[in-house]
Amino acid sequence: MTYLVKLGELSLKGGNKAGFEKILARNLVALLKGSGASIVSHDGRFYIHCEDYAVNHVENALSHLAGITGWAQARKCEKEINTVLAACVDEASLCFEQGARSFKVESRRTDKSFPLRSYALNCQAGDAICKTFPSFKVDVHHPDVIIRVEIREKAFIYGYEKKGLRGLPVGSAGRGLLLLSGGIDSPVAGFLMTLRGMSLNAVYFHAYPYTSDEANRKVIKLAEILSPFSLGLKLFMLNFADIERRIQEKAPASWATVLLRMAMMEASSILARRNKCKALITGESLSQVASQTSENIYCAQSRASFPVFRPLIGTDKEDITKKAIAIGTYETSILPFQDCCALFSPQHPVLHASIPQARELYESLDLAPLISEAIKNKEVHKLFRRFEASK
Ligand code: ATP
Ligand code: MG
Repeated sequence: MTYLVKLGELSLKGGNKAGFEKILARNLVALLKGSGASIVSHDGRFYIHCEDYAVNHVENALSHLAGITGWAQARKCEKEINTVLAACVDEASLCFEQGARSFKVESRRTDKSFPLRSYALNCQAGDAICKTFPSFKVDVHHPDVIIRVEIREKAFIYGYEKKGLRGLPVGSAGRGLLLLSGGIDSPVAGFLMTLRGMSLNAVYFHAYPYTSDEANRKVIKLAEILSPFSLGLKLFMLNFADIERRIQEKAPASWATVLLRMAMMEASSILARRNKCKALITGESLSQVASQTSENIYCAQSRASFPVFRPLIGTDKEDITKKAIAIGTYETSILPFQDCCALFSPQHPVLHASIPQARELYESLDLAPLISEAIKNKEVHKLFRRFEASK
């Protein structure tokens, strides 16, 4: 089996192109590990050759690979006119079976020694298809399917194409630390940053024994689902029970969430520095909940010593949910186990916290030693979900 893979945005990056391509190839190799597939890079395309049993693995790998615009299963044949025309008819037959009723042929000839020009090849292939399947109609404006022919070192023919994730190859923008809760939003935020080239570490704050083992397992599961997008993911689990208790005992109840967020940012910044991350990532979306007003976000951010990326800040819940379904995290996110915040969250939280007041309260809590302790006792999980080689 041969797959043809189209590279994405990185083909626009001028001088950096070779570097991006190298990272993309390395990522593809990592995702294909164990499949037995081989990769050839040629002229802005990757070609993957694999045995039939590895098809599932290869397709899973391609649907998790940032930096490609599309891919297709392709027929590969010799660059001989009749052989190419026959392959076009075979491909048309498959597309017809899959429901297409109109088509057009689009050829590209990188090898100019091929005797037919692209236009002539389109016409001849179109004729051959129409003769074999009279009810398959040519429609050059809105065809159900485009049958593409690429004449390169071999001829490649393909019809239906799958959309790639686009974006940039993971690792081209360094590493970010995702604040991963058990909710719907933060996994989506992490996913979106992988599309901008960031690989992920993640940190989860729990409050065991006030929170359950199931809640922890749920977050591990979410991190596992995200891991192939990030080409592996290290998850830190920090017990913030003492910190939450201190906040509850010493601060006004309405301030609990803001102060907890500040502590999370402080702990995350320490972890980010130690693990060579360049940014913190959260799933915040403006005004979605009380903790996400501009003022409260600003208070939390005041304890961060890295840029905080919030790819969902202007996105509504419905769109975030759709993305969560598409990347496969939704079903796990909606499991009912509570993370630490839900448990300690006040009934009437401050909505527009003032920075000077937040600072004063935060400093009076003397959380630094408790944060150091939580970091010292962290649990670490190295995750990389592998794909099955057989169907
Ligand atoms: P999510 O759906 O991601 O849980 P949310 O809508 O519940 O988000 P908040 O609870 O205000 O919103 O959390 C905002 C962001 O803060 C989260 O998206 C996440 O990045 C971070 N965060 C919240 N709680 C935790 C936690 N227990 N561990 C790690 N990060 C957290
Ligand atoms: Mg949440």
